[in-house]
Amino acid sequence: MSELKILQVSAEYFPLIKTGGLADVTGALPGALRALGCEARPLLPGFAAVLDGLQDPVEVGRCDLPWGRWVRVLRGQLPDPEGGAGHTTAYVIDSVALYQRPGGPYETPERQPHPDNHQRFAALAWVAVALAHGLDADWRPDLVHGHDWHAGLVPACLKAAGPPFVPSVFTVHNLAYQGLFARADFDGLGLPWHWFQPDGVEFHGQLSFMKAGLHYADRLTTVSPSYAREIQTAEFGCGFEGLLRHRHAALRGILNGIDERVWHPGRDRHLAAHYGADSLERRALNKAALQAESGLQVCPERPLFTVVSRLTEQKGLPLVLQACDLLVEQGAQLLVLGSGDAGLESAFRLKALQHPGQIAVRLGYDEALSHRIFGGGDVILVPSRFEPCGLTQLYGLAYGCVPLVRRVGGLADTVTDTDLLSLVDGSATGVVFERMERGDFEYALRRMLALYRRPQDWRQVQRTGMARPLHWSDAAASYLTLYRELLGRC
Ligand code: ADP
Repeated sequence: MSELKILQVSAEYFPLIKTGGLADVTGALPGALRALGCEARPLLPGFAAVLDGLQDPVEVGRCDLPWGRWVRVLRGQLPDPEGGAGHTTAYVIDSVALYQRPGGPYETPERQPHPDNHQRFAALAWVAVALAHGLDADWRPDLVHGHDWHAGLVPACLKAAGPPFVPSVFTVHNLAYQGLFARADFDGLGLPWHWFQPDGVEFHGQLSFMKAGLHYADRLTTVSPSYAREIQTAEFGCGFEGLLRHRHAALRGILNGIDERVWHPGRDRHLAAHYGADSLERRALNKAALQAESGLQVCPERPLFTVVSRLTEQKGLPLVLQACDLLVEQGAQLLVLGSGDAGLESAFRLKALQHPGQIAVRLGYDEALSHRIFGGGDVILVPSRFEPCGLTQLYGLAYGCVPLVRRVGGLADTVTDTDLLSLVDGSATGVVFERMERGDFEYALRRMLALYRRPQDWRQVQRTGMARPLHWSDAAASYLTLYRELLGRC
């Protein structure tokens, strides 16, 4: 059987451009698929950081865009993260006008969406079509796999472009970001005018890139089995639940893994001390270093609760804010690393001022600090309202930073609550609570504190989590099965 060729389309890619878990997934998947004999080549917008990271670029061709512009398409090599020996061949859209500007990949410095986002990400889709139709004479994909709304138009454009029909997979990493645009923005994007209807790309009078992906892709996946079920309900479906129920036979939940090239406590270059399940006492060095660098009282006995998160409503952080006083009262510390919502940022800053030495807040995005938090913190808090998969609890598990999570989405699929039974049968890996309510959350915190005060049980829970990290090889094998099914190559 010849090697499968997959074009992976996304806006983010670790380590070059990352705002959340999407980048971790798209950065890890090509390497994991390569190990299974399948070549996945990323296609990325040419943000400055992406062009900077692309080695040996050559132009493979130009792609005309339906609104009268054209872009250059480059092919080059992306080095493996952490100095790995491998390389991933990738395509990058080289357009200063579309992608090189101040601000983030999606927003201006004032945190407003870039006004031409519909064109910036429609360009991604049309270049994917050009590659699927042979723009690079040396490599033509069997299948195109798009991720999240930024690549939502890919399945639609593939269908609109006509033969040769190249099948598509579309993965939802977060249904709440729907890629919504005005009706007028639809004109000029190159799709048939009559597709702007509820049975097409229209979502309550607007254009939705997410809906385009959900409607036109041949197969749909999301990043955990629980989230795949949840998004078919009104509570989690963000208005797409009807469409997703209709398409349920095409929808599958595949859990993310962790990239051990990047996340491994035994060789993580960001940690003061390396350790494994049998040398957990070495974490104390990391904890002391973390307390010192973040301005917390250096005190080994105090349990150190942590947050590494986008500061948004989704992540349930108001619960953490409400519990700050309780944590300090109970002799615990809290370290928050995050950025996002201005109200949450200032509320956490205020808590840090009220409890100097016991609560610390780092606002901003800091990859290295996030590693030190998993390597030195005792507990990672992930009390999300909804969570498609969640990666921070997976990093917590792998690093012995015990997760406290809400029973929702991928959190429910990856953390086993600690009770007498799960301690006895050796399955406990964290603390899980049910309802998005202060009482439930605080009870979970108290249970975590009680566990922390039983060192033997604590070690057992840490070790169980570390013993079975979710590897990307499992997820990659599931994607490969899906690709083969779709191409009739089982
Ligand atoms: P989401 O994709 O919804 O943001 P995930 O848990 O799936 O949530 O992935 C978040 C990723 O972003 C993880 O790799 C996490 O460590 C990282 N992250 C989030 N906020 C920060 C931050 N402020 N600094 C560094 N890394 C962060």
